[in-house]
Amino acid sequence: MPFIEKNGLKYYQFDSLPGTVHAVFTRRGGVSTEPWSSLNFGGSVGDDPANVRANRIRAFETLGRDPASVFDVWQVHGKKVSFALRPRDPESHEDKADIIFTDQADVTLYMRFADCTPLLFSDPVKKVVGLAHAGWQGTVKNIASAAISAMHERYGSNPVDVCAAIGPAIGPDHYEVGQNVIDAVYESFGDYAEMLLPRVGERRHFDLWAANRLQLQQAGVLNIEMSNLCTACHTDDWFSHRQERGRTGRFGVLMGLKV
Ligand SMILES: [Zn+2]
Repeated sequence: MPFIEKNGLKYYQFDSLPGTVHAVFTRRGGVSTEPWSSLNFGGSVGDDPANVRANRIRAFETLGRDPASVFDVWQVHGKKVSFALRPRDPESHEDKADIIFTDQADVTLYMRFADCTPLLFSDPVKKVVGLAHAGWQGTVKNIASAAISAMHERYGSNPVDVCAAIGPAIGPDHYEVGQNVIDAVYESFGDYAEMLLPRVGERRHFDLWAANRLQLQQAGVLNIEMSNLCTACHTDDWFSHRQERGRTGRFGVLMGLKV
């Protein structure tokens, strides 16, 4: 059962991320009002910061994680990595990064999404967990490969031991893209671009799910689980920047090592 309901919240869990506590929270069960209703984690989308804080605490407690264990970053559509040695000091500024890892059991990694692809990583051998934020920009920069390289260099992870998961994101049915994205996909993916940019009449869509899966496979990852959930198809569950024309919130993904 990928969806779990608890404390009025509904979240998605993957089957194949051993040794982790993780959740992709739907937008259900929070305190925010329209257009952020209701479990909004986005602090820069116009919602009341007190509501965002209350939502975050509710999500952490539902997963049995201390809200003070949070480590998050300022997501900037790049592929820089931030390694969490301890929870983030609430007085400190977030690192600008789109990949986070930790091998510390008292840290809970936390990221925000609304159409971009959540990538979740677990290495049960080296006891490392990670999250990445892969929109089209991160994807054409091959953020998946950057994440696997970082796991290898920092923790000695062997890609064949890594379990990766691709969370809810805007699907190939909904993600129409313009010429700038099409050009970037061709430049990044070469011969594979044709397959990753399905034609819908005269228009081209971008398959973020398949693009990230391909990059993970090329980086040597064998265990890849897909959620195959389109955020734009299911705005009852997910915030979708595209489908809701920018007036929406951000859903949260949490991940830590099982204690
Ligand atoms: Zn869709």
